[in-house]
Amino acid sequence: MDNILSLPVSEMVNLSFECTCGRSHSVDIRSIIVDQDITKEAVSLALKYKTGRIFVIADNNTYSVKGRRIWEALKKEGLPVGGHIFESLHPLVPDERAVGRLVTEIGRDVSLIVAVGSGTVNDLARIISFKLGIPYLIAATAPSMDGYASTVSPLIIDGFKKTYEAVYPVSILCDLKAMRNAPWEMICAGFGDILGKYTALADWKLSKDVNNEYYCETGVSLVKNAMDKCMGNIDGIAERDESSIRYMIEALILSGIAMGLVGSSRPASGAEHHLAHYWEMNALARGEEHPLHGNSVGVGTVIVSYLYEMVKDKADFEIDSPDPEEIRGLLKRIGACDNPFELGIKKEVFTESIIHAMEIRPRYTVFHLAKRLGILEDAALRLTQKFYGAD
Ligand SMILES: [Zn+2]
Ligand SMILES: [Zn+2]
Repeated sequence: MDNILSLPVSEMVNLSFECTCGRSHSVDIRSIIVDQDITKEAVSLALKYKTGRIFVIADNNTYSVKGRRIWEALKKEGLPVGGHIFESLHPLVPDERAVGRLVTEIGRDVSLIVAVGSGTVNDLARIISFKLGIPYLIAATAPSMDGYASTVSPLIIDGFKKTYEAVYPVSILCDLKAMRNAPWEMICAGFGDILGKYTALADWKLSKDVNNEYYCETGVSLVKNAMDKCMGNIDGIAERDESSIRYMIEALILSGIAMGLVGSSRPASGAEHHLAHYWEMNALARGEEHPLHGNSVGVGTVIVSYLYEMVKDKADFEIDSPDPEEIRGLLKRIGACDNPFELGIKKEVFTESIIHAMEIRPRYTVFHLAKRLGILEDAALRLTQKFYGAD
């Protein structure tokens, strides 16, 4: 099915096809809607589940942005509504406490979960939906990461980040008005998460060439199309222009769909994500707050692109990777952080992360090649000097 690449995002639902990569792929999402105000759509979808109660999950921010409006509209329609609104002074953490709280609050008569929010709320709703066997829809309020169309939930358990198997939402409703007006840091984070696909795809190609790893051209093309759309509208994103933000939202959803097709995060996550996870886990271990996922991924992409340049000088085969200065230029153009120092990563943590990020998960990336070529430690020192000075 070649035409999947020409489908608009809203039609990438209920798909199942045999792919040129030899596998059959499917997308079990029933609807994807990007609209000015998705309240009406949320209500009409909820009406299909009126055999039971509707359970709304939000935090105090997303509740005031969109949650209250949806809750009241559901009630007005005569639907039985309940829910849990997390009151948090600090950012909500997707940990066992938050999961437990939801399990405690949710009734046995719930037929649909309506999650209103972005990364954390979505991850919590997804795991609850999967474990309790209750479908959920996400009313997305910020274009901050690519996990809306995803089937896994990264949670913080015992202080460590761990990814759990979960389920697709039945519907993804993107509220364009809320997403356009999301805090700027969250828009930069979404941009950084998309930018990370440059090195993620380079790593996948590298592993295909070195290890003959499974590779799906359709998945790659989906992600590349998503990136091109987004990068071609970068100035519009910086101005919060409506159609540019729409492209960005579509890119984030497409990236999620590509992961779903392939059955792993390979098309969307490589060494840049391992660096971001390393920094996040380090901050968690110290009880410190960490940057938004996508902002770390953006900086990780810069670092990994530099590492690729160093590896290319030594490798005896052709390697395709992004130009680090161009990646930095893109981050600067949107006003996002482009270096680990300004991101708040401590110097020693940075050096260690280059050497040890590859231990985070068994996925072949440029870190492995650098290690095999015997240049990883030297690269860590050179990169530390570059961003933190000689001493
Ligand atoms: Zn395929
Ligand atoms: Zn990501």
